[in-house]
Amino acid sequence: MAQTQFTTHHGMVDILPEEAQKWQYIEQIIRETAKSFHFGEIRTPILEQTALISRGIGELTDIVSKEMFAFNRGEDQYVLRPEGTAPVSRAYVQHHMEQRGGVQKLFYIGPMFRAERPQKGRQRQFHQFGAEMIGSADPMADAEIIAFMSEVYRRIGIKNTVLNINSVGDPASRKAYKEALQNYLRPHFNELSELSQTRFETNPMRILDSKEPEDQEIVAKAPVITEYLNQESATHYAFVRKYLDDLGIEYKQTPRLVRGLDYYTQTAFELTSPDLGAQDALGGGGRYDLLIEEIGGQPTPAVGFASGIERLLIACEALEIPLGEPAYLDIYIVTRGDAARMWALKHLPKLRSLGLSVSMDYAGRSIKAQMKEANRENATYCIIVGESELESGELTFRKMVESEEFKLTFEQIINRLRPI
Ligand code: AMP
Repeated sequence: MAQTQFTTHHGMVDILPEEAQKWQYIEQIIRETAKSFHFGEIRTPILEQTALISRGIGELTDIVSKEMFAFNRGEDQYVLRPEGTAPVSRAYVQHHMEQRGGVQKLFYIGPMFRAERPQKGRQRQFHQFGAEMIGSADPMADAEIIAFMSEVYRRIGIKNTVLNINSVGDPASRKAYKEALQNYLRPHFNELSELSQTRFETNPMRILDSKEPEDQEIVAKAPVITEYLNQESATHYAFVRKYLDDLGIEYKQTPRLVRGLDYYTQTAFELTSPDLGAQDALGGGGRYDLLIEEIGGQPTPAVGFASGIERLLIACEALEIPLGEPAYLDIYIVTRGDAARMWALKHLPKLRSLGLSVSMDYAGRSIKAQMKEANRENATYCIIVGESELESGELTFRKMVESEEFKLTFEQIINRLRPI
């Protein structure tokens, strides 16, 4: 009987070394950017309590209503985290981070899980980097968060993005808008998609997000939230735009961009790329002044963003942006015979202690096969050792690109390599 072939789950992918090397490069840029904005890293568990996510993101969202990987163990309900903001907010409350004083500036990088229908740019396990500024209601924090996100893309070299921004106001502004929107939509109720009809009462703002053509036509003429912002919300939004202008960050005001949940307040933004196809959002975020109280903390204003790493990689590929140098090997030790292999094994640590990357044959293959591997791995040098070399103490030191060979003792080789 044929053996079962195990594969990854649908929508979950392995990241192999050639690809992982690009990830390391991107992660390094994210970390360097975080450092220059002085954000500290936070690593939260992959599993959270299901209730945190359903409260933190909202029962009515697609994420909570149909995309959670959740399971029970005894009394406990676990969920694979679908995003980072609720977990970071939980950590903020749990560790009384407000007592540290000032604004907490936190960033994260890690896997997230959503049982979505996989397609290009949409996976069930994907990775996000994101940042949160917790404890400031100042529009300057909104601008800094947007600047952080934009700076990562700028440093990587993705230039043709569009930053859409909007304000969803405070709860009072949103209440007024919700009523106006329902009044506008009511006569069109029967023409709306089935999904939008179910959202009409509970969460009409989500109808604005709808991808259904029949909804989009109706929504195109709907009133926009920016006309319903009260003084405070309008002022906040005006300052966010002013600070973005001051920072030289271009944006497009997109009044139909919404975050349909009650915990979201004021600023909403999304960075899109024309190189991504249907799933064109690279990242997004906004202010969530009501979330921390919702999950059991003191009322605490906060703003953050989250960006997808897979989509960033797709954009880089489309734009032919090189992501770091391909991995290379400093030295490959080619061996003939058991004694030579023993010699190699013993001498690897010395070479590695010089900071060199060193490898050898681990399968007792022919010299030819070993040389082939050294070439494939882009080795800069080979040290070739056989019985006669061990006897004479003179090894063959080969510069691969130049195809030059020298007879040298191990000490002489070390001296040559030292300045690298
Ligand atoms: P969200 O948390 O839904 O606001 O998503 C923020 C960003 O994460 C998006 O703009 C995408 O870049 C990325 N993202 C969200 N869901 C997925 C997914 N299923 N697969 C890949 N990337 C995703």
